[in-house]
Amino acid sequence: MEVIAIDGPAGSGKSTVARAIAVRLGREYLDTGAMYRSVAFAALRRGVDPTDDEPVGRVARDVEMEVRGDGSVVVDGVDATIEIRGPEVTRAVSLVAANPAVRTELRARQREWAKARGGGVIEGRDIGTVVFPDAALKVYLDARPEVRAARRSNEVRELSYETVATDLARRDALDQGRADSPLATADDAFVVDTSEMGVEAIVDTVLAELERRR
Ligand code: C5P
Repeated sequence: MEVIAIDGPAGSGKSTVARAIAVRLGREYLDTGAMYRSVAFAALRRGVDPTDDEPVGRVARDVEMEVRGDGSVVVDGVDATIEIRGPEVTRAVSLVAANPAVRTELRARQREWAKARGGGVIEGRDIGTVVFPDAALKVYLDARPEVRAARRSNEVRELSYETVATDLARRDALDQGRADSPLATADDAFVVDTSEMGVEAIVDTVLAELERRR
């Protein structure tokens, strides 16, 4: 099993880079952020308070989700591709992701996904540190906060730059500060600051490092 783990904060370029690397390697790609977003979406839809740990844990255990490589997501039979990226879910997701019962469940689903495919390219916050500590390559992508906010702001046209920047900073703090598998750099991670880099350059750098470690 060969797992390529790609971690880092929002706006670091993870999704774009992970997708491109999967294509170049002919492997499948898993967006674990979409899985946490799907649990938040399911909780909101069922009227469950995102901070209410026990019921949210139950939602995580019995929700049916299909997170596809093309970015589309089906949650309990409903196409949630657009909604999981919306402001309501984005506001709730880091609260849901701090819940240990949710993390235990999603970790198990992520390991099953990889086992069924003999590995793949998996992006998230704790993939190299916790979910796949034996990954063939652990990449940590980062960028200056204002660069990350600008990237996100270009994707989310309906919100102002200030709103996006504030949300990003809040999510970073929650993701880095939680007790269970916080966002952190693995000791053996290949760290890339993408602030001044284009997608192609990042992908080439990462693939060169993979070759070196292989
Ligand atoms: O990557 P994305 O921004 O879609 O992730 C949404 C949220 O899901 C993150 O802010 C984080 O709270 C949570 N997450 C996580 N662990 C992962 C992936 C995402 O806690 N492996």
